[in-house]
Amino acid sequence: MQVTSMHFKERAHANMANAQLQHNLQKIKGKFVAKRRESLTELDDFEGTREAGRAIRQRALDNLDVWLEIFERNATARGATVLWAETPEEINAHVLDIARRHGVTKIIKSKSMVSEESELDRAIEAAGLKVVETDLGEYILQINDYEPPSHIIGPALHKSKEEVADLFARAHATTRKTEIAELCLEARGVLRQHYLTADMGISGGNFFVAETGSVVLVTNEGNATLTTTLPRVHVAISGIEKIVPTLEDVATLMRLLPRSATGQSISNYVDILTGVKGQGEFHGAEHMYFIVVDAGRSGVLGSELREALRCIRCGACMNHCPVYQNVGGHSYGWVYPGPIGSILTPAYVGIERALDLPQAATLCNQCGVVCPVKIPLPDLLRKLREQQFERGLRPWPERAGLRLWSWLATHPALYAIATRIGARLLRALGGRDGMVHKLPLGGGWTDGREFPAPAGRTFRELYAERKTK
Ligand code: SF4
Repeated sequence: MQVTSMHFKERAHANMANAQLQHNLQKIKGKFVAKRRESLTELDDFEGTREAGRAIRQRALDNLDVWLEIFERNATARGATVLWAETPEEINAHVLDIARRHGVTKIIKSKSMVSEESELDRAIEAAGLKVVETDLGEYILQINDYEPPSHIIGPALHKSKEEVADLFARAHATTRKTEIAELCLEARGVLRQHYLTADMGISGGNFFVAETGSVVLVTNEGNATLTTTLPRVHVAISGIEKIVPTLEDVATLMRLLPRSATGQSISNYVDILTGVKGQGEFHGAEHMYFIVVDAGRSGVLGSELREALRCIRCGACMNHCPVYQNVGGHSYGWVYPGPIGSILTPAYVGIERALDLPQAATLCNQCGVVCPVKIPLPDLLRKLREQQFERGLRPWPERAGLRLWSWLATHPALYAIATRIGARLLRALGGRDGMVHKLPLGGGWTDGREFPAPAGRTFRELYAERKTK
């Protein structure tokens, strides 16, 4: 997927001015938040489970090489083939190679964010093969000329029912339906035919289980079950960081994932697929492949951002992010939006190609509070900001301002004078209503909002006065 993260600001402005998008975003705002909050009350000790989830993910990352080897051994023993992809291009090359080897002409796919990184669908089509997305959200985006997803778990959340109705009528050449149930039925009818005629199914992988060599798939539509068991070839693609040591670990993580994602105690479908179809077995693929993807992850593992690899892609951080809620997922310009996207995108594609993303946060810490595996997202964003500053990647006035501020902060007397002058200037800028409406050299702050002018003396002045009393 093309990286357009350098245009975050322009896109965010455009998306905030897009009335239809804002209407759609408003409708989902708070929905996931309320459901998650409600579902957590079912757990006796959510914080304890959250800590257990953190520890499981960290244990896997601390010995990733060992767990990956165990996974490969066990998957191979059950008849699967494990392939490694160092780059996004290698994912596509492996898939096309497998397709050629098995004489595949039609491929169905359930949701895989990693395959978005390599634009796998386009590569498959360029090779002359047919590919059909089966996750309803992904399918909607596919028939809209591969529009990029805007949310980790709800790729088409930004679309209204009416927009989907128009797309279906055009793509399926049918009369336009108006009810969601009718639209779902129409999609189901179209997709069923593809399930029954596809030669290969591609899935992502919520987890790769080392002790059994299995892939775990979590969905609400059941499309992953059909995608992986009806065609004769199954290819599961996921990142190296998705490994978990044991099935018991999966059980713990499954107490966190659906609740954090959609506020469900458990998703409608949880598939654990191990090896190829055995003799006499009715369901399952005859040939099973795992593509285990690095594509920048081992670099992140060795960096100060390594904790980001604990992510289980629940989407809670973006559901709770005030920036994401207003600018929508497309503003972030690559596969992963929201707070985790603002870390993973610069980490995977290079910080110089995603300059605005570490700034696309208020650091309010809501994301850090809700993350089920305790990723300290605001701390990681701050680390990226430091890297940008140290490498001179921010505009010079910003760097000069920060240098001045850090110099003042280490000279308390001068700092006190500067804050006194600053407070007086801001007070002078305040209008009759006591609000600052326009900030010289800081127009970006006041273009869309105002803030109260300082009311009286500075904190230091008040503190000094109280101390003497
Ligand atoms: S960073 Fe945490 S909250 Fe965000 S998607 Fe990943 S696991 Fe979920």
